[in-house]
Amino acid sequence: MPSPVTHGLVGIVMAQTVPLGVSKRRSTVVFAVLSVMPDIDLLGSLAGIPWRGNLGHRGITHSVGVAVVCGLIGARIIHGKQGLSRRKVVGLTLLACAVAVSHGLLDAATSIGVGVGLLMPFFDERIILPVRPILVPRARGDGLVLAMLRMVLAELLTVWLPLFVGAGIVHVYRRLAPAEQLPNCADSVARRPRA
Ligand SMILES: [Zn+2]
Repeated sequence: MPSPVTHGLVGIVMAQTVPLGVSKRRSTVVFAVLSVMPDIDLLGSLAGIPWRGNLGHRGITHSVGVAVVCGLIGARIIHGKQGLSRRKVVGLTLLACAVAVSHGLLDAATSIGVGVGLLMPFFDERIILPVRPILVPRARGDGLVLAMLRMVLAELLTVWLPLFVGAGIVHVYRRLAPAEQLPNCADSVARRPRA
């Protein structure tokens, strides 16, 4: 599977792209939790729940349906009673759902494994994506270090790099775009130097 650091990083970096006016600090905490939360099923496995059952590891907690529900709740926790515009609430909610869904998709993109219950409980088959760039080290002994390095490199290129590039593009756009093109937000205007 992707390292826990990679899962968590998805949430932390995507929290930096929330609509202007939304608390980044609160978004960072909630998104980080959303991005790693599906692995809570490991606790069930430790308690004896069958690994390959719907409640086992990479089962229903990794499904798109559960992720969307968690994303909706997470977005609600973030904006609370802030009185954000509908447009910002929708943007924040879509981001929160994307963060939550990312965990199952990344797990389904690992080079080995029994797949992920992305469509549970409606479809019990576990899904493996046709393209699986995220490597899982299988070597033992002397080859383990090299295999670990390959795994880290694969995650850097396929997850970290696109993630930072995407967040960077959003950041640059917000710095360069005329204020009137940005969503209506007091802090986006306040940052502008007065003429
Ligand atoms: Zn997982």
